Amino acid sequence: LSISRRNLLIGAGVGVGAVAIGGAATVTLLRPHEVYWKDGAATPKFPHIPAKPGDSVVIVGGGLVAIANALHALKRGLKVTIVAPNSQRGPASFGNAGVIAIGDTAPLGTPMTLAGGPSMLLDPEHPLSIRPAYAAQIAPWLSRFALACSEDYVRASTKALSWILSQATDAHFELAADAGASDRLNPLGYLKVFKGEAAFNHFTNDELKYTREVNTPIEFLNDAQLREMEPGLSKEYTHAVMHPKSGSVHLPGEYLRQLEAYAISLGAVRIEEDVKTFKRNGQIVEAAVTATQEIKGDHFIVAAGAWSKPLAAELGADIPLDTERGYHVMTQAREDDLRLRRSIYYSDLVAYSTPMGDQVRVTTGLEFGGLTAAPDYSLINRKAIHAATSHAGIGEKIEGSEWMGFRPSVPDHRPVIGHSPEFANAHFAFGHGHLGLTMSAITGKLLVESMFAQTPRPELAAFSPERFS
Ligand SMILES: Cc1cc2nc3c(=O)[nH]c(=O)nc-3n(C[C@H](O)[C@H](O)[C@H](O)COP(=O)(O)OP(=O)(O)OC[C@H]3O[C@@H](n4cnc5c(N)ncnc54)[C@H](O)[C@@H]3O)c2cc1C
Repeated sequence: LSISRRNLLIGAGVGVGAVAIGGAATVTLLRPHEVYWKDGAATPKFPHIPAKPGDSVVIVGGGLVAIANALHALKRGLKVTIVAPNSQRGPASFGNAGVIAIGDTAPLGTPMTLAGGPSMLLDPEHPLSIRPAYAAQIAPWLSRFALACSEDYVRASTKALSWILSQATDAHFELAADAGASDRLNPLGYLKVFKGEAAFNHFTNDELKYTREVNTPIEFLNDAQLREMEPGLSKEYTHAVMHPKSGSVHLPGEYLRQLEAYAISLGAVRIEEDVKTFKRNGQIVEAAVTATQEIKGDHFIVAAGAWSKPLAAELGADIPLDTERGYHVMTQAREDDLRLRRSIYYSDLVAYSTPMGDQVRVTTGLEFGGLTAAPDYSLINRKAIHAATSHAGIGEKIEGSEWMGFRPSVPDHRPVIGHSPEFANAHFAFGHGHLGLTMSAITGKLLVESMFAQTPRPELAAFSPERFS
């Protein structure tokens, strides 16, 4: 590194009291959270044109969020065109940890996260890192992140996330059943495991404090229960919580492929190109423009994950979207009694393992490095080795299985689901960060429902694109 990690921290505005250094003077502060929960606050300043059966919709993006929107639009009688390049391993929807994590109702950033930021960045084994070349670019995002770590904001986000997450599992089961993909969903819940009391107390004093306030379903396991559930788990893990209503997806990339194939079987048209811009006329979007054609439609949805920022900007919304890069490797799975049965989050490793048939996926990484820098697989390779000693069900790494993907992340950990503030027929569904697999199906349901309504549901105000303006 050409600059020390300490300087990097200060430059990026991370750490207690560092918000001002990181450019609070240059970024717009988040609006007070209360605004999103007042009656009527969901009514956007600028009304959209409600959709009606038979209208056409152009959906920009080919990840799970886009495809879930496509399926719900088809259900309601819209004519659907999906536009995205053909890049099977490219979307985050391909390579995520596969956890339907409906119990993760607290946002990533809390007062304790903020306080721990510097030590996390200084620990080379912690997945949080900032590429030096990207430090200046990410600084305004980190400043907003720091502001969203206040107690009040965290509580508002937890409330908003718990509302949407409580509907997320059912929404997946509904779409999966329609598409004949139900066998991809593992309903066995997911575990968070801790080595020793101190690690567990950290969790109870931080994340759990908020999730309990919104009655997130959670079970505390004693040692016998934990061993019975996961006989292969290392005995070093002494404490655990179970998220019983969560689950996982067996190979999310295959799940995506099946849902997309189902959408096409229902009449969706798939165009394999990048959308470069939009053709606009007054307050109406007329077409999505690619290198070769103009794709006309009555309505437009931007759902291009981490690549959505410039597209949303063309449609009137300046969203502080960036990416937290993450990694996975695949390992061999054991198939006997010691096999991994469900997703596990290892708090000491800050890594997940998820059973995916005869393989296990190990994931980690929270790297600020933008969309173009080359991947660095060294950390995930080390984590794979550690994970293999944490659970007997995790075997040898499968050579060449390393993957990097781009979480579409906004600073307050809430996705952007709603209507354009400037164009009457444009809509947004992106920014799902760490929980985009989990929230994809319910996002499609809520956004399409909202497109048909005169005004959005009040709860959607917490996810409005206008909250940053
Ligand atoms: C390592 C890792 C682990 C994760 N684990 C989990 C987990 O366990 N549970 C969970 O819920 N979430 C998890 N996530 C987050 C989740 O994967 C993402 O939030 C989610 O996949 C985002 O879906 P998306 O459809 O918005 O974006 P993506 O899946 O990234 O799809 C974006 C799409 O837009 C297309 N696109 C880009 N530019 C254009 C353009 N100009 N025109 C047209 N199309 C374009 C891309 O080709 C792609 O098809 C994880 C992410 C990572 C990286």
